[in-house]
Amino acid sequence: MFAKAILLAKLFGHISSLLLSYVCRSLSVQLSHLAYRLKLFSPPPSSAQEPLNIIIIGASFAGLFAARSIAQSLPPKSPYKVVVVEPHSHFHFTWVLPRFCVIRGQEHKAFIPYTHKFFGGNVRWIRDRVASVGRDKIRLQSDGREIPYWMLLIATGSGGPVDAENALPSRVGVDGRTEGLERLRAIQRRIEKAGRLVVVGGGAAGVELATDAKTAYPEKIVTLVHSREAVMHRFGPGLRNAALKGLTDLGVNVLVGERVVEEDAEAGFILLKSGMKIDCDYLVNCAGQRPSSGLLEELSPSSISETGHIRVKPTLQILDDMLPNIFACGDVADTGNANPNARAAFKQADIVVNNVLDVVNGKTPQRTYYPHWADGLIKLTLGLNQSISHVGDGKTELLFKAKDKEVDLGAAKAWKLLRAKPFEGEKVAAFGIDLDEAP
Ligand SMILES: Cc1cc2nc3c(=O)[nH]c(=O)nc-3n(C[C@H](O)[C@H](O)[C@H](O)COP(=O)(O)OP(=O)(O)OC[C@H]3O[C@@H](n4cnc5c(N)ncnc54)[C@H](O)[C@@H]3O)c2cc1C
Repeated sequence: MFAKAILLAKLFGHISSLLLSYVCRSLSVQLSHLAYRLKLFSPPPSSAQEPLNIIIIGASFAGLFAARSIAQSLPPKSPYKVVVVEPHSHFHFTWVLPRFCVIRGQEHKAFIPYTHKFFGGNVRWIRDRVASVGRDKIRLQSDGREIPYWMLLIATGSGGPVDAENALPSRVGVDGRTEGLERLRAIQRRIEKAGRLVVVGGGAAGVELATDAKTAYPEKIVTLVHSREAVMHRFGPGLRNAALKGLTDLGVNVLVGERVVEEDAEAGFILLKSGMKIDCDYLVNCAGQRPSSGLLEELSPSSISETGHIRVKPTLQILDDMLPNIFACGDVADTGNANPNARAAFKQADIVVNNVLDVVNGKTPQRTYYPHWADGLIKLTLGLNQSISHVGDGKTELLFKAKDKEVDLGAAKAWKLLRAKPFEGEKVAAFGIDLDEAP
């Protein structure tokens, strides 16, 4: 009990220090803008003819917020230019995907428009995919165009290849909103039709989808197959047990230490490693997210770890002394965080922003990221009406149960965070816009 009270106090302390550092950063950005406006100091000189591009690859939790902070912090008329390359037409709000694979009529809320309003500074927006990264330029996939960079941030996250048919529920797997909506509606139809549903993967996405499906369709036989000995195995025993109880209380069959070795969709069964045969009308794969680190494979193969993550220094520069101007953060980076998530991605993005600005100001990067146990905090839904939040420091754990009312998991908050009006998605799409030209 005493250990839990201490952990709770430490958690509050950590959250307060994060809030304080956020407020300090916002204040320092505003003060430096004021100083530039009052001409207290002039923008850094540059002999370069071209703008010095700070290119950000990927505009999700890590890249989008880094792009905005850097753009807002650069002095006016500065020779530096923030360039974002992102293939998605809209921001994909991953947290709601397992639920929207089950529940109809909410799917439009997963696609948040990228808005001009979000950026308070100049950003050049390129809707494309980066095909390769060279020593001083990137190449775009659509037309092979090359864009030079002075600094590069790789924030490509994780997921499968873009045409991955089965990226849901972890990622959408397509770039456009219309196709994304269609993918979600297709999986909803298949789940609705399936009397016997098998969910593979006992991580958060699998547990959430299985419990949502069983709550929405109590008559279905829902089976969760997980290769490890416990669901939510990356977390402490408190969450593992709570997740298992949430599943079994709803009537989900849970099979751990098992793997699917054969799937016969036509005959309607799957075969497990143990030899067990299970009737299956539809299988949803919630396992096997891979970091999207392929862009560095040629330029710096040693920077890619065995797990496919990008090895980084504590400054979040990649672990390659020949390439000090390349940073990586978020899900793609090997930061040692046991539960990569959006909050950790934000935190790391902030470190990168500070370090890029240090270099802009002629200093060496000073800020470092070391994972903190509180970065692993997770909220896990266990069906449509309840959730459990968990944080642990390796010695003790805190669990908070809650009744949930919002079927869309409060998606409007994410829309507002991105300065988009809930839920006016189809009207605004950032298709190849140059935010410089924004009104
Ligand atoms: C089902 C699910 C639920 C989740 N729930 C939560 C939650 O409740 N709370 C929480 O904190 N976290 C949650 N997470 C984790 C969170 O979504 C991730 O940690 C977060 O998305 C990581 O952000 P990121 O910016 O690093 O990468 P991503 O979100 O993966 O984004 C990477 C971006 O890079 C772009 N990209 C990739 N390759 C290229 C390329 N070659 N060129 C240009 N752009 C490229 C992609 O289009 C994408 O926009 C959840 C994840 C899942 C899957």
